[in-house]
Amino acid sequence: MRWTDRQRAMLLEMGIRLWPDATSNGASEAAETQLEVKSAQHALTPPPEQERSATAVVLPTAADLQQAPVPVRDDAVPISSGLSAMDWPELQVAVSRCTACRLCEARRQTVFGVGNRRAHWMIVGEAPGEQEDLAGEPFVGKSGQLLDNMLRAIQLTRDEAAPQRQVYIANTVKCRPPGNRNPQPDELARCEPYLIRQLDLVRPRIILAMGRFAVQSLLRSSEPIGKLRGRVHDYRGVPLIVTYHPAYLLRNLPDKARAWDDLCLAVETVKTCTGP
Ligand code: SF4
Repeated sequence: MRWTDRQRAMLLEMGIRLWPDATSNGASEAAETQLEVKSAQHALTPPPEQERSATAVVLPTAADLQQAPVPVRDDAVPISSGLSAMDWPELQVAVSRCTACRLCEARRQTVFGVGNRRAHWMIVGEAPGEQEDLAGEPFVGKSGQLLDNMLRAIQLTRDEAAPQRQVYIANTVKCRPPGNRNPQPDELARCEPYLIRQLDLVRPRIILAMGRFAVQSLLRSSEPIGKLRGRVHDYRGVPLIVTYHPAYLLRNLPDKARAWDDLCLAVETVKTCTGP
C-alpha cells in the first residue's frame, strides 16, 4: 500500500520526513514502501521473550469486548459510593463539583473529557495544562493540534464520525496541577475512579495511553514509556497501547517516528479484535 496524499501530509505534520523527498517517481515509491514495511514490521514484531512483561496478552475477540465491562479496580479510592452506577450527566456533575484532592483549589474548571461516548478508541492523557484549564477540554493548543494530526493520519477524529472512526479523550486527572507540575500519587489515586467510570461507560475497543502518568495509572507500572511501548498491554480485557504524550513529542521530534509506529500497532490491534 502507498501513502495517500493525506497520510503523507499528516506524517509530515507529525515531523516524520519521507526519505527521499516524496515524489511520484518509482524510486521514491520504493523508498516509501521500505519505510512503511519497516514501520509495520517494527510495530508487529513481537518483542524478545525477555522483554515481554506480564501484561502482554492474547487479544480479546469483539464478542469478548462486548460482554466484559471494565470493572472498578479494587484499590481505587472511593469518591462516591454511587460512582459505579452513574450515567454520563451524573458523572460530569460529580467531577465538576469534586473537591477530593488539593487540585480543586487552583482550577478554573474541571476538564472532563471530549469526543464520542460510544467511540471505539479511547485516548487517555495526563493532566490539564493552562489552556485545557481555560477551555475545559483536554488536548487543546499545540499538543492538541499534534494529537488531532496524529489521529487524522489514521483516519480518526474527535469530531462527528462513525464510532469506529471516533475517539473519546480523557485525562488521568481532571484538574490542572498548579504551574503545570506533575500530578502527585495521591492526586492520581483520588481522581482515578472517574477515569475508570469513563472507561466503563465508553467501553472502548482500544485504549491509547499517552504519557507517563496515564501509563502509571492504567498499568501500575513505573517503567519508562520507551520500555512499555511497542507491544499490546491489557487493561481489564481491553487492549492498551502505550505511546508518548504529544506535549513530549513537540519537544522530542525524533520520537515522533516511534509514536507513528505505536499508532500503526494500535490500528493493527483494532483490526485483529474487530475485523477489517
Ligand atoms: Fe477531584 Fe480529580 Fe479534581 Fe482532584 S483532580 S479535585 S480528584 S476531579
